[in-house]
Amino acid sequence: MSRVVVALDVGGTGMKCALVRPDGTVHHTERHPTLAERGPDAVLETILDVADGLAAKARADGLEPVAAGVAVPGVVDEENGLAVWSSNVGFRDVPVRARVEERLGVPAVLGHDVRVGGIAEARLGAGQGHRHVLFVAIGTGIAAALVVGGAGYSGAHGAAGELGHIVVRRGGTPCLCGQQGCMEAYGSAKSIGRRYAELAGAPGATALDVVTGAGRGDALARTVWQEAVEALADGLVTAQALFDVGVFVIGGGLAEAGDALLHPLEDAFRERITFQRPPRFVRAGLGDEAGCIGAALLALDHLEDLA
Ligand SMILES: [Zn+2]
Repeated sequence: MSRVVVALDVGGTGMKCALVRPDGTVHHTERHPTLAERGPDAVLETILDVADGLAAKARADGLEPVAAGVAVPGVVDEENGLAVWSSNVGFRDVPVRARVEERLGVPAVLGHDVRVGGIAEARLGAGQGHRHVLFVAIGTGIAAALVVGGAGYSGAHGAAGELGHIVVRRGGTPCLCGQQGCMEAYGSAKSIGRRYAELAGAPGATALDVVTGAGRGDALARTVWQEAVEALADGLVTAQALFDVGVFVIGGGLAEAGDALLHPLEDAFRERITFQRPPRFVRAGLGDEAGCIGAALLALDHLEDLA
């Protein structure tokens, strides 16, 4: 019987779910609302029900569910399968892995959403062919994943990759993390939209409105976009000084801007570097399924370790 992995990428608003084959291709996808306001216990029950439903779907299709991979945001203790802290899902020291294993009766893993997304991009997406990859997800916030030889780097406390909280403007715009002047406070999709909305008196403006406006010659949109690009470049120069990767894979909602983001970002990066070697800049290739595919890859790695 062909094998598949049950994979869930749990975000603050929605869960992207899939049955993934061992080669990383997707057999089936579903989406479910997270409804985080119900509290962490209810969210965990939904994860278990959805995972169970996916396993049943696999069997109904003549496939054997052999493992499960779940990705969550925040701080993740991958070794012990604990969702340590996740503000937008409400998790605090939740033993997600043990509960999934108990419910499904197959080995499970718990991963960090951006880190597993980076693993998927490095192995199967836009980072293929590079041994050292930095996946940078720019959306509501900004986070990154360092992937070396196909393996994600999680840090001593499961909290590596918080690139968005590199301070690029000392004493600048307050950030939700408690610091001021973080790269995220200028360069995230949310910050770009908000900044333009304030300056233009255009409530509800989004980052993609700003990039479209900049392309049409709206001077204010151009200024806001350029400020964002410069903050992002400042942060990425620091990242490259630390990691010396071969490629930056740019993903998240802001990457939908395509070359309107990548070209000025790479130019601003190159203007800033002195000793650092420039990496390639590429747009992520797997879209919003990267987290699901990566969670499945992590589960397959775990199965190999067990064998
Ligand atoms: Zn911050």
